Amino acid sequence: MADPPRSTVRSPADPAPVREREEYSLPGTQKGERCPLCRRTSTWDEKYRFWFLQENHSFPETLERLSRSLGFCFFHGAHAALDPSGQSALTLVHDVLASRVGSILSRDPGNRSNGKRFPSPFALPDPCPACEDRNDAIGRTLSSLVPEIEQARFGCPTPVGSLCFPHFRSLGPRLSRQALLRILPLYDTALSTALDMGSAGNESLSLALSIAAGDDGMSGLFPPPFGRRVQSASRSPVADFLEYLCADDACPVCREMSRAWSEWMDWLTDNLPRGVEVRDLLPVCPTHLHATSRLGNRRLIVASTRNVLHLARDQVRLGVETLSPPPVPDRKKSPFRPGRLFQRDEGPFREVRRSLGRPLPCPVCRRLAIARDRAILLLFALLESPQHQTRFSTGYGLCLGHFSRSLSLKPSERVRTILMEVEAAKLDLLRWELEESMRKDAWMFRPEKAGAERTAWIRAVRRFSGSFPECDE
Ligand SMILES: [Zn+2]
Ligand SMILES: [Zn+2]
Ligand SMILES: [Zn+2]
Ligand SMILES: [Zn+2]
Repeated sequence: MADPPRSTVRSPADPAPVREREEYSLPGTQKGERCPLCRRTSTWDEKYRFWFLQENHSFPETLERLSRSLGFCFFHGAHAALDPSGQSALTLVHDVLASRVGSILSRDPGNRSNGKRFPSPFALPDPCPACEDRNDAIGRTLSSLVPEIEQARFGCPTPVGSLCFPHFRSLGPRLSRQALLRILPLYDTALSTALDMGSAGNESLSLALSIAAGDDGMSGLFPPPFGRRVQSASRSPVADFLEYLCADDACPVCREMSRAWSEWMDWLTDNLPRGVEVRDLLPVCPTHLHATSRLGNRRLIVASTRNVLHLARDQVRLGVETLSPPPVPDRKKSPFRPGRLFQRDEGPFREVRRSLGRPLPCPVCRRLAIARDRAILLLFALLESPQHQTRFSTGYGLCLGHFSRSLSLKPSERVRTILMEVEAAKLDLLRWELEESMRKDAWMFRPEKAGAERTAWIRAVRRFSGSFPECDE
C-alpha cells in the first residue's frame, strides 16, 4: 500500500467523504504498471505502419500529405523501413515524392527572376502525417478521460492513476482547478517515490524512467553516434565539416548533429564522476532521456532520470501551491461556502495549466538545434567558393529536412540556387534508381543482375527522413 502524499496541500473546500488510500496509489510505480497511453501509442504506431505498408501508401491523400511534409519524420521513417515487407511500398512512395519534390524544385517560384520573391514551399513543410495522426488520437483519448476524471468521486480510483508524467502534462491543461488540486498531489507522491527508486536496481530505475519520460516508444530507434570518440583536445570544426561534405553516404548536417550529441554525452560521462555541476546540461525531453538510457552509462542514466523527476516535482509543487486556497481565518470558516473556490482570480489557474502544457526545456535539444543551424550557416559560407561548391555537389547534398531548414535560414540568392540545383540533381538520380529497382522486379527482366539500386529505397528513406533525429524543442 502506498504512503500518504507528502504534500501538505489542503483539499478543496467543498465537503468530501474521507478518501480511501487507493486513491493515493502511485501511477503504477509499485505494481510495475506502465502508462496505458504509452501502450496505446505503440499500438497506434504499429497499426499505422501495417495499414500504410499494406494499403494506404498508394492513396492519393497519403501521397499528398507526405509530399507536403517532405516524407516521414526520422522515427516514423526508420520504423517503416524496419518492416521486412516495407521495401516495395517505400520504393513506390519515395519514387512519387522524389518526382513531385523534384518538379516543384525546378519550377520554384522563389527561383524565378521576375523581380518578386515568394517564400519557398519547402521552407515550412507540414508535420509528419504519422506523428499528426498519433497526436490526434492521443488528444481524443485524453479528452475522453476528462469527464471521467472530473466526475470521479473521492475514494474511487481514476484513470489518471497510471499516466506517465509526459502524458499527464498533456492532460493537465484540460482539467478544472478542482481536478488539478485533487490530482497534482498524487503526482507529487509518484515523483517522490520514483526519485527514491531512481538510484536502486535496474528494474526500479526503469520504472522511475517510465514515470519521468513514458515508455521507450520510438526512441529505441535513436541511432548510435557516427564514428569514434574524438580524443584530441582541439579540433577544427571547418576541417571536420569539409570532410563530412565530401562523404556521399550521409547528410553533412545530420553528421554534425550526431557528432555534437556524442561530444555532449562524452563530456557528461567524463565530468559527472568528478563532481562537476552538470544538472543544467543533462537531457530532459523524453526522446533524449530514453536515448541516454540506451547509449549512456548507468551513472549518467541515474543522474538524468533523477534530474527530470526533480524538475517535474518542483513544477507540480508550484502548481499545488499556486492553486491552493489561501488559509481562511477560523471565525470565517464555514462548510456552507462551497462557491468560494469559483470566485477566485482565474489568472494563476490559467498559468498553472499553461506551464503544465509546456514541455520542460531540454539542453540537448537546444545544443542540437544550435549544431544544426551553425552547420548550415557554415555550409552557406563555404558555398560562396567554387572549390567547395564542387565538394558539395559531388558529396551527399542535404537530407530533405535540412534542405528545408537551410531555405528557412534565408541564404543568399547564389547559395540558394546551388542548394536547389544540387537537391534536384540528387532527387533525379534517386528517382532513376528507384524506378530501375521497380523495373527489375518485373518477371520478364529476371535475367538482369540486381545491383546497388536494390538498396535505393533505404537511401530514399534516409534522404527524406534524415539520418539523425530532430526533436521538438
Ligand atoms: Zn505515457
Ligand atoms: Zn513522425
Ligand atoms: Zn540532414
Ligand atoms: Zn531533448
